[in-house]
Amino acid sequence: MDRGEAPNSGAHPAEPSGATRHPGATMRAMVFEEVGRPLRERELPIPAPGPGQLLLRVRACGVCRTDLHLLDGEVEIASPPRVLGHQIVGEVVAQRGTAEEPGLPAHGQLVGVPWLGWTDGDCEYCTSGRENLCPRARFTGRDIDGGFAEYTVADTRYCFPLEPGHPDEQLAPLLCAGLIGYRALRMCGEARRIGLYGFGASAHIIAQVARWQGREVFAFTRAGDVRAQELALELGASWAGASEDPPPKPLQAAIIFAPVGALVPVALRALAPGGTVVCAGIHMSDIPSLPYELLWEERSVRSVANLTRSDGHELLQLARQAGVRTHVTTYPLERTGDALEDLRAGAFTGAAVVVL
Ligand SMILES: [Zn+2]
Ligand SMILES: [Zn+2]
Repeated sequence: MDRGEAPNSGAHPAEPSGATRHPGATMRAMVFEEVGRPLRERELPIPAPGPGQLLLRVRACGVCRTDLHLLDGEVEIASPPRVLGHQIVGEVVAQRGTAEEPGLPAHGQLVGVPWLGWTDGDCEYCTSGRENLCPRARFTGRDIDGGFAEYTVADTRYCFPLEPGHPDEQLAPLLCAGLIGYRALRMCGEARRIGLYGFGASAHIIAQVARWQGREVFAFTRAGDVRAQELALELGASWAGASEDPPPKPLQAAIIFAPVGALVPVALRALAPGGTVVCAGIHMSDIPSLPYELLWEERSVRSVANLTRSDGHELLQLARQAGVRTHVTTYPLERTGDALEDLRAGAFTGAAVVVL
């Protein structure tokens, strides 16, 4: 274990040496430099895997709303420059084992790299099944260089093996949109009637999982977003409408994916007694004050933070069983910035993925 060590903490690792040097030895990457500036395309040295790390050739990397929060400074990047991107589908091209874990994925194997990139393994959260709350956790595409680049390195222990035979761009959105959405869905417990507020990348995956589990799905979008409402109905939602609309039946749980605090009282109002509102985003605008009667009768509001590796294994297995199909708009690496602005503008339904 490299416990206590924080790998890949510098701006960019030194140029790889000998065994891991790739012909050319540089790569194209889309780099965050400072808040308020668009990502910049740069040539960087191909990173070298440290002990217990994989060098991956990136095949696809999903775009996430968190990337917008990072760009806008709502979630801080402590040490820029940084390569963003935390829904990585990569192919193993080099690796370094450790004494404890010599068995690593074979060259050519496909792995997924999620937001959770490293934890200390020994704090009160890590040792109680809550590594998502580890105070020393390091996150891909925020504290560790991510996947908007031709190559990246990742800690083997935090990568998920992926089954071959699926298009890379189909898999990428599962790695954050799917994972965080799944953790939020778990927080809904046994609720049968679930409202999804904001029908984007996460909701369109989780709607399929929830339907497969036999739950009823109600989709809430910005007023007039007919395309998102149509997609929701196509994926099995029994109702789709504007966020302000009351659902036809009281909800037993609601997940808020949109970063809009004003939706919290709106969703509470749509809940049956005993219901839960789960806020799934890493950042949300302020929640307005609300009358206690909205919370009364054992309604609750909670957030979901990050993911654990077991969330990842469960979701990837469930997605296979449920036959989840992601709806994807693809962009080449140099257009990562456009993908982010299209996400901001709501220019596509489903998920955006950068393909290499
Ligand atoms: Zn994300
Ligand atoms: Zn920890």
